[in-house]
Amino acid sequence: MSQRITNPKNQLKFSLSKLRQQNMKKKFSIALHGGAGTILRSKMSIDQEKEYRDSLSVALKKGAEILSKGGLALDAVTETVIILEDNPLFNAGKGAVLTHDAEFELDASIMDGRDKSAGAVCGLRNIANPIAVARKIITSSDHILLSAKGAKRFAKDFGFKLVEEDYFKTEYRLSQLKLALKEGTTLLDHSDDKKFGTVGAVALDQNGNLAAATSTGGLTNKKYGRVGDSPIIGAGTWADNLNCAVSCTGNGEAFIRTCLAYEVGARMTFGKMNLFNATEAAIFESLKQVEGEGGLIAIDYLGNISMPFNSEGMYRASLREGGKEYVGIFSA
Ligand code: ASP
Repeated sequence: MSQRITNPKNQLKFSLSKLRQQNMKKKFSIALHGGAGTILRSKMSIDQEKEYRDSLSVALKKGAEILSKGGLALDAVTETVIILEDNPLFNAGKGAVLTHDAEFELDASIMDGRDKSAGAVCGLRNIANPIAVARKIITSSDHILLSAKGAKRFAKDFGFKLVEEDYFKTEYRLSQLKLALKEGTTLLDHSDDKKFGTVGAVALDQNGNLAAATSTGGLTNKKYGRVGDSPIIGAGTWADNLNCAVSCTGNGEAFIRTCLAYEVGARMTFGKMNLFNATEAAIFESLKQVEGEGGLIAIDYLGNISMPFNSEGMYRASLREGGKEYVGIFSA
């Protein structure tokens, strides 16, 4: 069972989108993020900066390689996010932040712009690559969002290996939790001198298909099964071949309240905005209205890329076929 389109009426709508794609320039595009927040040049050593830049570049190259060989956007974003999940520098997979109970509860989602099929997990434990489980949900489940124990059971049933909690643990995240417990706060991985962050990727493949993926450990010291925007389709992740693919990072509650990822697509489709205007309005108007902080990466059906953020920085990288690789961290 899967969510793929079988209804003839939907098939017709889907073919219209396909017709549009046939006229499109088929040059691939890819962008990724590793979180947004208070990322200041003054607080980062040259070596640290290099480590981040190199890590972003490695992940970008993996996705670009898949796309350059004619691979699917969905595969490119999955593999790109897996590389970032495996990298302890980022708050996803290995290196994720800890909950109040010093555990790891991981959230992730993925969306295929071809037919808006999607998969997501929240509160998932003991799985190294939550994005791969989200991807599996698209092809092997009628559902979209699986939570906690159920998500873990699904992963086990479909052959994912369980890892010990220690796999995710890093000294830095432990010290963050100690601080948050001492101060009695829930720490967004995006303020003061915190490290970042949630990871995400968006891509356009040579056939004009868009996809988006997002993965995170959420907030340090989160309690009561708190779930952010990252596994919520429309809030943290969005992809529709007719408009764009989007992955967000920031304080999740604000992104949920504004349905921010979907909003970019809606502004393009209903408001007839271009990608640049739609993403700028989403971050600097809608997110601002709810005092949200963070950013997003987005690609439209023509391969244009936009990566706005209202925080001091956002780990980000992008590449358009035939163009130069871009890697950025700070705002200027
Ligand atoms: N958006 C994520 C959340 O709220 C956090 C992040 O982007 O770092 O769970």
